[in-house]
Amino acid sequence: MGRAFKFVVLGGGNAAGYAAHEFIKRGIGPGELCIISEEPVAPYERPALSKGYLLPEGAVRLPAFHTCVAIGHERQVRAWYQDHGIELLLNTRVTSADVKKRALTTQSGETITYKTMIVATGARVLRLEEFGVTGADASNICYLRDIRDAAFLVDAMRPGQGMKAVVIGGGYIGMECTAALVANKLDVTMVYPEPHCMARLFTPEIAQFYEDRYRKKGVKFVKGTVMAAFEKSSSGKVAAVILKDGTRLPADLVVVGVGIRANTALFEGQLAIEKGGIKVDSKFRTSVSTVYAVGDVAAFPVKLYGDIRRLEHVDHARKSARHAVSAILSGDTTKDYDYLPFFYSRVFNLSWQFYGDNVGKCVLFGDQSRGKFGAYWIDERNAVVGTFLEGGSSEDYTAMARVARVRPEAPPDLADLGLSFATKLPAGELSQSSAAGKVLSIIEDPYTWQIGTSLALVVGVAAVAYWHHRRRKKLL
Ligand SMILES: Cc1cc2nc3c(=O)[nH]c(=O)nc-3n(C[C@H](O)[C@H](O)[C@H](O)COP(=O)(O)OP(=O)(O)OC[C@H]3O[C@@H](n4cnc5c(N)ncnc54)[C@H](O)[C@@H]3O)c2cc1C
Repeated sequence: MGRAFKFVVLGGGNAAGYAAHEFIKRGIGPGELCIISEEPVAPYERPALSKGYLLPEGAVRLPAFHTCVAIGHERQVRAWYQDHGIELLLNTRVTSADVKKRALTTQSGETITYKTMIVATGARVLRLEEFGVTGADASNICYLRDIRDAAFLVDAMRPGQGMKAVVIGGGYIGMECTAALVANKLDVTMVYPEPHCMARLFTPEIAQFYEDRYRKKGVKFVKGTVMAAFEKSSSGKVAAVILKDGTRLPADLVVVGVGIRANTALFEGQLAIEKGGIKVDSKFRTSVSTVYAVGDVAAFPVKLYGDIRRLEHVDHARKSARHAVSAILSGDTTKDYDYLPFFYSRVFNLSWQFYGDNVGKCVLFGDQSRGKFGAYWIDERNAVVGTFLEGGSSEDYTAMARVARVRPEAPPDLADLGLSFATKLPAGELSQSSAAGKVLSIIEDPYTWQIGTSLALVVGVAAVAYWHHRRRKKLL
């Protein structure tokens, strides 16, 4: 038994939703596209899971954050796929792939063939079992990658008040989950081996600002060490986390955010793999010309830096998906992907954006005590290659993106010039606008979007989305 499609997207996450939108925009016919996803719901904006989804009140729920609402497009609920003649196979795991035969096999044994496939399998969380931690299967240990994990975490956080949580990992998942746990009134301790949070991106000074804010909210930090074991209760749940130095941290709940791995397993030995992802060219073609790969799973050439990278950022997932569809349907008229790395996070009432590359010397500016500050990274050629800003306006972020894109020479008084260095940079090529981030914040911001999904709000979001969409078009 089998079915054949012209196009198959394997994976039903962020990138898949944007790919579907692009396919429809470019006018494919009914029955030509099939999306296969092991998730139970249509593609959604994944970042909402660690933000609005975890709110104690007025939490955001599907269908509010299906793709592609984050950039002001319509909300692609399940019926949208049906109405556009797209076969959306949910709860369907692909268990094997044969790229020579252009065939996929699902867990039910069905064979699905394609002419062209986009692999958008994203990534999976690293689990403590993989590090040999015993007892890591207890029911009060949570991870956060998909909607099932998020629903599980919401249940596990109840009743909130009086509960103790230990968060393992100091990356953005750890930071965002901790903020959510605090909002739900849990008493939280964060544990990580690095000397400060967000160690892959933040300097000690930037991290200090966020850690201080967290401390003011009651969060405790145990740094420079790792967990060694779990102490279990008679019910089999974790009762305490034991650290390597013997410290015992009582816990009613453990949240683990220790990294992810790209889902490449189906294609190892069939497609070229690099940097832990499926290697693609600047049009997202893999080593087999009928297969493309996008989003978290793709290792792609970053034109700006002349190297190959795999980025785990939603902006790239969205853009790479659209770019690949353009390349598939419009071939040689599609330019090379020229991406400026962009990442953001929102916790409590804080919000930051990062653009470019965090290499070389870091120059800080601004006033942390006022909640608006930033940083520039200067490489060995004295060019400003990376920018970071907390508490900026949409125009500020656009200016910071432009600096990272243009890579101007760093003046000696860069720290004094601060943000004005970016805002006064002569307008040249505009890079990615952050205007879309405003729409995104309405959907994902845990601390400003408290209203739920009433009709009035849906109308409001649509209006704001429309306004920002028009504005974004102007900025670009
Ligand atoms: C909680 C959370 C918060 C985040 N917050 C931010 C943020 O603030 N800013 C930011 O820039 N990025 C953020 N990200 C990262 C961002 O969400 C990802 O970069 C983005 O989702 C990647 O899109 P993707 O489509 O490549 O992968 P995914 O969205 O992970 O989608 C992959 C899909 O493939 C499916 N799949 C995998 N294997 C198979 C198979 N064998 N058969 C069938 N289906 C399969 C999966 O079930 C999933 O549906 C966050 C991620 C998470 C988890």
